[in-house]
Amino acid sequence: MTTPMPSRPVVLCLSGHDPSGGAGLQADIEALLAQGCHAAPTVTALTVQDTVDVSDFRVLDREWVLAQARKVIADLPIAAVKLGMLGSVEMVETVLELMQQLPGVPLVCDPVLRAGGGGSLGKDDVGYALRERLFPIAAIATPNLPEARILAELPEGSAEECAERLLPHIGHLLITGGHGDESEVHNRLYCADGSHHDFTCQRLPGNYHGSGCTLASALAGRLALGEGLVSAVRSALDYTWRTLRDAEQPGHGQYVPRRL
Ligand code: PLP
Repeated sequence: MTTPMPSRPVVLCLSGHDPSGGAGLQADIEALLAQGCHAAPTVTALTVQDTVDVSDFRVLDREWVLAQARKVIADLPIAAVKLGMLGSVEMVETVLELMQQLPGVPLVCDPVLRAGGGGSLGKDDVGYALRERLFPIAAIATPNLPEARILAELPEGSAEECAERLLPHIGHLLITGGHGDESEVHNRLYCADGSHHDFTCQRLPGNYHGSGCTLASALAGRLALGEGLVSAVRSALDYTWRTLRDAEQPGHGQYVPRRL
């Protein structure tokens, strides 16, 4: 008999489904496979969208989300949790309840409030609930600058100002750039101990669908593999940059990262 291969670390993903395949759970699964992890995808919401924009979404009943995740938690050794679109304040509370079953498991929170095309995937109240309820138990959150401004309630705030406002709620905050028109993209990691790391990369042309999902999932995968936080952030940013460099435009809208 052959010896079984050691299992890959399992990452529980609580995210929405994007039928274009560019963002949401499909992005999570692909990015995690590329890190050498196994994705366990629990659906939080369904969306109606293409690569241009989102036109509608429906958040699943809390009981359905609890049932999906509890079944998986009872069966698989969860090494990290990745949160994407939650869609409602109630879903934030539902995730908090689930996390009580996973003490010490690193939680990566991608505060999804808007699709790449600008359409809503949740009211700002969902962001405030994330900040108040889930940030305190998360290892790291990965907002882009527009999301960080919403979470910090600073519509014109700089990354530094937003971080100052948000760090009392969370241990690490990775605020990604790329939404302005500078030639370099500055991604900034702020830590509650006062340390701060800058990761600069070349700006790529184009608008991407699912880049935030790709980054947060790759990061959760790296943490699940046991990589230290700062190194995991660097690895996840490098991987995401390569997926954007190799992105394809399968439809009429944004480019989709090539994750595998
Ligand atoms: N999650 C879902 C289900 C989505 O549909 C989207 C965007 O459309 C996102 C997350 C966020 O995508 P991005 O990674 O482009 O921020």
